[in-house]
Amino acid sequence: MPAGGRSRRGFRRFAVPATIFAMLLGATLYVLRPGGTAGEAASGVPEHGSGSFATADAAGKAVGHGRIRRYEVQVERGAGISAGEAAHEIEAILADPRGWTADGRDGFQLVASGRSDFVVKIATPDTVDDICGAAGLHTHGEVNCDVGPTVVVNLKRWLLGSPEFPGPIAGYRALIINHEVGHRIGHGHEGCPGAGRPAPVMMQQIDGLHGCKANAWPYDSAGRYVQGPSVQ
Ligand SMILES: [Zn+2]
Repeated sequence: MPAGGRSRRGFRRFAVPATIFAMLLGATLYVLRPGGTAGEAASGVPEHGSGSFATADAAGKAVGHGRIRRYEVQVERGAGISAGEAAHEIEAILADPRGWTADGRDGFQLVASGRSDFVVKIATPDTVDDICGAAGLHTHGEVNCDVGPTVVVNLKRWLLGSPEFPGPIAGYRALIINHEVGHRIGHGHEGCPGAGRPAPVMMQQIDGLHGCKANAWPYDSAGRYVQGPSVQ
């Protein structure tokens, strides 16, 4: 997915040469503001793993209509979480009626092997820095990134969420997956449509809600797209 304009806010945080390098690679960094609190240091989230990944041995049924994208879920060995459990959680997010399948033209299928259209990797902070850094993206042990066909989810964000997102961790995980998969199916960033309204899933909610209410789903329970103004 080309970097386009959708991560310019994020890119401004980093040195210009890294930005240019990343854009040349077509890689995208999206910003999750570091939650660096003393509590995180004591959170028990491992900083390093093995650097190798286990692919979830969990294939699922296709959900949705139209183009079905096949995806794998991989978890770094040593991260302390189950690849199978993470895969089932991601599968449930993508199959949720409030998810992207509500658009009637996109579908998803979890696969354990063979051809895949994208891979979701959950990795320890140091490994995220290695993978994203190789693409010129500086994740500082805190943020996720998106490189080629791979969504790299920082274990710290997967386990601890974001200070900007209230409620159960499952909600924040849904936001991570829906936001990134939204990019994969062609959506750019959106802003808050008005005070008190739910935040679009394509809004960079971690950068502040601007009067909107935190929201993890692209569609509401009535099947309406939660839309905001396009943000370049
Ligand atoms: Zn984004």
